Amino acid sequence: DLTGKTAVITGSNSGIGLGVAKELARAGANVVLNSYTNNEEDHALAQSIADETGVSAQYIQADMSKADECRKLIAEAGACDILVNNAGIQHVAGIEEFPTNKWDAIIAINLSSAFHTSAAAITGMRAAGWGRIINVASAHGLTASPYKSAYIAAKHGIVGLSKTVALETAEEPITCNAVCPGYVLTPLVEAQIPDTMKEYDMSREDVIKNVMLKRQPSKEFATVEQMGGTIAFLCSDAAAQITGTTISIDGGWTAL
Ligand code: NAD
Repeated sequence: DLTGKTAVITGSNSGIGLGVAKELARAGANVVLNSYTNNEEDHALAQSIADETGVSAQYIQADMSKADECRKLIAEAGACDILVNNAGIQHVAGIEEFPTNKWDAIIAINLSSAFHTSAAAITGMRAAGWGRIINVASAHGLTASPYKSAYIAAKHGIVGLSKTVALETAEEPITCNAVCPGYVLTPLVEAQIPDTMKEYDMSREDVIKNVMLKRQPSKEFATVEQMGGTIAFLCSDAAAQITGTTISIDGGWTAL
């Protein structure tokens, strides 16, 4: 039961972040949603979570590519007992063609933001005598694929950062772990299906099974609810001695 705790989830107006926010709210936590936009819909998402679950929910605009905005997010949240570093972007290109600005943006959003938010949040966790940091890495935090140099470097980096933060907080009631999803059917992934169907001249089912889930032995997408449930577990008392490790939610990908 996470009643009374406040969870800050970066990059949570869509996909996994939003799913995680909903699950943590269902478990009783107050939630802070975030992205770099400041649309009416962003605030409406927070309101709908509050209406459905009765927790307090707010949306705070902050660009996770900028160090000062990462730290500002934690300050503005007021409390941060649970920090879920989820914001992330992708770019696919061979290393020689990989644009420097994409490399810099991916390292900033997918890796450095977690350094800044964690650094800012740990002080409050120490004062409160309880804290949970969960970094959303990827199966690509443990294995590689071609053409995703920045993403894979960032995701391996965040696994290392999680271990270091875990050691620095090991003697306190604070844990830090990384979750490593395989393919999750988020709007981002859904949007790639039509183009891939055309490219391979395949049905939707074949694209999903034989292209997207080629390396996911279960041949099923993981769901945002499963991400949220795993993260809620990491916030529970049962997980108090789980720190500095990774949990794969990848249908067997990393067992191959
Ligand atoms: P998504 O595009 O639906 O969500 C990404 C979120 O990050 C969005 O809310 C977006 O607004 C936010 N974001 C992007 N740039 C930002 C910035 N500069 N500042 C603040 N917020 C920003 O994608 P998703 O699939 O839900 O991905 C969420 C996380 O899960 C990412 O870290 C991604 O690498 C990871 N992941 C996803 C999958 C998958 O299959 N979908 C697999 C493994 C890991």
